[in-house]
Amino acid sequence: MKLVIVSIDGLGGEVLPYFPRLNQLKKRGGSGIFYTSPPTLTPSTWASIFTGKTPGEHGVFGLYKIQQNWDKTEVKATDIEGETIWEYFYRKKIKVVAISLPMTYPSFMVDGIMVSDVTRHEEVEQKSVTYPSDLYFNLIPQFTPLFTLKPMSYFPEGGFKQEEEVYFFIERLKKILTLKEKLTLLLVEEVDWDLLWVHFFTPDIIQHPLWSYIEEKKENKICSWVISFWEKLDSCISKILYIHPSVGRFVFSTHNFRRAKWVLNLKKWLKERRFNSVKLWKRYFRGMGGIKEDKVIPDKKLLYVKKNKPKIYNQLIHELYNLTHPTSSFPVIKKIYNPSSLYPLKCSPPIPDCILEFNHFFTSMDGGYFGNTFLPQEPGRDFFVGTHSPYGVYVVEGLKYFKGGKNISPQEVRGIILKELEK
Ligand SMILES: [Zn+2]
Repeated sequence: MKLVIVSIDGLGGEVLPYFPRLNQLKKRGGSGIFYTSPPTLTPSTWASIFTGKTPGEHGVFGLYKIQQNWDKTEVKATDIEGETIWEYFYRKKIKVVAISLPMTYPSFMVDGIMVSDVTRHEEVEQKSVTYPSDLYFNLIPQFTPLFTLKPMSYFPEGGFKQEEEVYFFIERLKKILTLKEKLTLLLVEEVDWDLLWVHFFTPDIIQHPLWSYIEEKKENKICSWVISFWEKLDSCISKILYIHPSVGRFVFSTHNFRRAKWVLNLKKWLKERRFNSVKLWKRYFRGMGGIKEDKVIPDKKLLYVKKNKPKIYNQLIHELYNLTHPTSSFPVIKKIYNPSSLYPLKCSPPIPDCILEFNHFFTSMDGGYFGNTFLPQEPGRDFFVGTHSPYGVYVVEGLKYFKGGKNISPQEVRGIILKELEK
């Protein structure tokens, strides 16, 4: 049987009612919660989806790969340890069309077509963006925005100065939806396929800066523009899902959103607490402060202890649990996980020592050595007004073996797909 999967970056239960066609599908089929355990970061979640394994096995935890010499490099598909679903499909001659899935750059070799997602990559080798590699050069004239999409480039610097800017921000992202739909309809005609899998990243770009408006659910203009985006997305998704009459259909989002009011600047905090120190003469070059001594390496919600492990680790845990916001005195950290308490560690080191789970209204980023330790996130002004929450949703219809109803995790997705595609 053929299978069509549509994955959405950021769709939760409270937003689902704005997707009328998807709701019809839910009524005919099944649904449930897609729960992603901490860290709710895209690379680790998608490496789990592709391998069916935990980060402890596939070795992808954060947005960076910490190399054995402690260098920090952008995490890529080639950092995933173990066999991915794509290598398995190639071996089993399962034909695929995969479009814009996270953690697929550099593109895997497939029996069919793969267009990888390059939104998080600074340096991209053109010949590795698609498989087959010459496809990229044929697509580029018509589909350039799909390959140059960078979340922050759509958000105006310093925030939205007028309401109209929000409108244009959403309209630009709607055009990306149209292009993605066009690309999908074009590629499915090119090759025969057993699995069509298309990913939509744009809801994430909309919800990060506009989540406060959505959460308030006020009858305001901004909310109505966001709803019009969702309706368009719903229509695109439904065209893709019904591309063929007799297919299994699987729609999921690995996360939802929640309000963020403060972002903890980890680099600044580590420097303040003397875990790391910075050469002062570099101050002249703002943001370029060279590290003099780094005992702890941050990566978004992860911390790697580099030196004097047990001593620094204990001190770090103690200070993090005691960390409160300076004006509200609210505790910042909800829980600190040591990966070894979550799953067996079989991947190659370094492995993060702390996975941070934040209390309501807080999140973190690597940050810089200067500026504020807590960055307040104001609606209209900042991009991280919304942050990821672990409760996404899924909807299925016409699957032979999986009817939905229960919670699923990223590790379970691979098994669900393989069962349906077994010939
Ligand atoms: Zn996001």
